[in-house]
Amino acid sequence: MKPMFIGGRWLAARDGRSLPVVSPADGLTFDHIARGGAHEVDLAVAAARAALDGPWGRMTATERGRILMKIGQQVLDHHEELAQIEARDTGKPLTTARNDITVMARYFEFYGSAADKLHGQTIPFVAGHQVSLVREPLGVTAHIVPWNYPAQTLSRSVAPALAMGNATVLKPAEDTSLSALRFAELATAAGLPEGALNIVTGLGEEAGAALAAHPGIDFISFTGSNEVGALVQQAAARHAVKCTLELGGKSPQIVFDDVDAARAVPIIVRAIIQNAGQTCTAGSRLLVQRSFQHEFVARVAEAFSKVRAGTPEMDLDCGPVMNPAQLQRVQRYVQGAREAGIPVLAEGRIAEGAPAGGYYVQPVMFGPVPRDAALAREEVFGPVLAVLPFDDEADAITLANGTDYGLLAAVWTENSGRLHRVAKAVKAGQVFMNCYGAGGGVELPFGGTRRSGHGREKGLLAMEEMSSTKTLVHYHG
Ligand code: NAD
Repeated sequence: MKPMFIGGRWLAARDGRSLPVVSPADGLTFDHIARGGAHEVDLAVAAARAALDGPWGRMTATERGRILMKIGQQVLDHHEELAQIEARDTGKPLTTARNDITVMARYFEFYGSAADKLHGQTIPFVAGHQVSLVREPLGVTAHIVPWNYPAQTLSRSVAPALAMGNATVLKPAEDTSLSALRFAELATAAGLPEGALNIVTGLGEEAGAALAAHPGIDFISFTGSNEVGALVQQAAARHAVKCTLELGGKSPQIVFDDVDAARAVPIIVRAIIQNAGQTCTAGSRLLVQRSFQHEFVARVAEAFSKVRAGTPEMDLDCGPVMNPAQLQRVQRYVQGAREAGIPVLAEGRIAEGAPAGGYYVQPVMFGPVPRDAALAREEVFGPVLAVLPFDDEADAITLANGTDYGLLAAVWTENSGRLHRVAKAVKAGQVFMNCYGAGGGVELPFGGTRRSGHGREKGLLAMEEMSSTKTLVHYHG
């Protein structure tokens, strides 16, 4: 049984309760984690507060940055071990898990080197006064993250908070806490003082809800579903603390008839298949100009039909989905689309030898999908691609903006005027032009508009989110 990490010590739940850790690849339990709750959240928040009053709170930005960079190096030194843990916990292919751990290290390198680079300002004011704007940590920050990219979202959320000098309490997803727990050991070995990072494992409705509602926290970074995001925002409002919400998406790939198809097709397939479609930024809607849809869609379908799902060790295009609830959710959407008579354009395969108890889904591409169908508007969070034709530029924009979400979009055309017009008109936190989600994007501010959430993570903007400003007004005569 893996204990929690609070105040630099390893702790079982007070009542001894635990949760099973199940491998999505075969459905078998292979470990247990502590089932923390309100009591452990109290301890973690107190430990974080003590860290702010102790060595961590007294460190300079440069010293904090140095520790963060050492954490990044620790992650690289244990890269394969962490990738194996992540692959087993999530079921994702080993190559994907290895990439996730590289990105994890990158977050600590990036924010480690940025820790002393977010400078203040001076502000011209009335005569005889000197005014400066300084940046300060918020205090104790809470981080609630989902199961799809556990190592990446942990790092994305915690690294900028630490860089700004906050003390953190992390609640990993109950399905995937193992990489976070191993990470805590590596962060300690890198010299992170006790209490700067605390990890409470457990159920969302217990540990997560207790953390979001805790009066001792000063900020919440939440990544997850819209339903829980709304609860977290309500909890934050009760204490008037700020929160960032990184929620769902239904991201469009907008393809015009002058696209460089050879370049676009593999990227478009990967954008929905990666992580078995369980990516908030999955390119789950393929919008294609009607005049050439048959030709282009046939090429995507051909590539899509070659997709294979298998175990982490098989290392194919994707793994299983996360848990039985996710499996049922995806199956419900697929069955609904079939019953509605929406044509299947292509199907991938579940690899031979994939264990029968694993949560595998056959990847499927539907189209043309009616604009009012669930598949056209709702986030499936599985390897399901919806193809929708559009007539012209104006219609493409209407269709792209036709869901409640606004997280990511891509525009594909060789016409640079059209590229920029459409990119400007699409409602999304990030728009990629003739590429998609390129390179992990640790440096690139990221976040939603509309129902995809608010606030920005990644890049230097995350450090602004996770800090506050103080205006100092000095009368010197
Ligand atoms: P989820 O909302 O069920 O869980 C996310 C986290 O919230 C988990 O740690 C969970 O334990 C916790 N939680 C659950 N109930 C809670 C409660 N009542 N109070 C406080 N915390 C609670 O989401 P999920 O199913 O793990 O993840 C899938 C969703 O996350 C998808 O909608 C996906 O789009 C979204 N997501 C968004 C991003 C992004 O950056 N925008 C990234 C990854 C996933």
